[in-house]
Amino acid sequence: MLSISPPLRYNINVKVKEIFAKAILTKTAISGFDYCINPYVGCGHGCRYCYASFMKRFTGHLEPWGEFIDVKVNAPDLLKKQLKRAKQGVVAFGTVTDVYQPIEKKYQLTRKCLEALLENQFPVNLLTRSSLCMRDIDLFKQFKNIEVGLSITTHDEIVKKIFEPSSPSISTRIGALRALHEEGIQTFAFIGPMLPLDPKPMVTMLDGLIDEVLIDRMNYPNKVKSIYYKAKLDKYLEDDYFHIAGKELKERFEKKGVSVSMIF
Ligand code: SF4
Repeated sequence: MLSISPPLRYNINVKVKEIFAKAILTKTAISGFDYCINPYVGCGHGCRYCYASFMKRFTGHLEPWGEFIDVKVNAPDLLKKQLKRAKQGVVAFGTVTDVYQPIEKKYQLTRKCLEALLENQFPVNLLTRSSLCMRDIDLFKQFKNIEVGLSITTHDEIVKKIFEPSSPSISTRIGALRALHEEGIQTFAFIGPMLPLDPKPMVTMLDGLIDEVLIDRMNYPNKVKSIYYKAKLDKYLEDDYFHIAGKELKERFEKKGVSVSMIF
């Protein structure tokens, strides 16, 4: 990818650079999807456990994860070109970034890519931690096949702040799910990774807002072990916690008629 602007400071911690990408609609091996779109490299949410930080190996960034964002400014134009030759398939938005991270307010690349996909009615699956997705409800409503999900990893705002210091509050994510659901959009919650949580309030909080829930354990414990220990939350890293709390979540959601996929 070619850099077209000198780095500028997006906020006190995040270094932003505009780049030209060579491709934006990328084939993926992720089950259930054919393509993925990531309009940004890096993510201003900077979750401590983020698996996508492996991207640094390919991009050469030396900054800590969460402190750089490369903006693929040509993403919408590139997508339009690629769509002329692409076979129909399900497009996953945001497999190594959050497509509604704060910088999307300025660049609107996710919105413009959605507009291009809409013209061709490609099926879309979109996952985010941000209520900024509500901005694009007008587009979501025009897709024949779209699912929009919010990652909600705990019911506890204090726990969220420890592990996801720069991501939006849980209450705003719940508000987003409510708005999407009320507009008749297919919604899901991704409880992954399961941070320290209590299944009962978790299920109550999501009651009536989602069609499906996906549940996953913490897959990269070594990245965050020290944070768990420092916060005296280490019992929530044990296998028993994931299995017992995961099972209770599944049972409680199923009682509410919500379809559950356990990913571990
Ligand atoms: S929002 Fe997603 S991509 Fe961004 S830092 Fe958090 S886990 Fe990683």
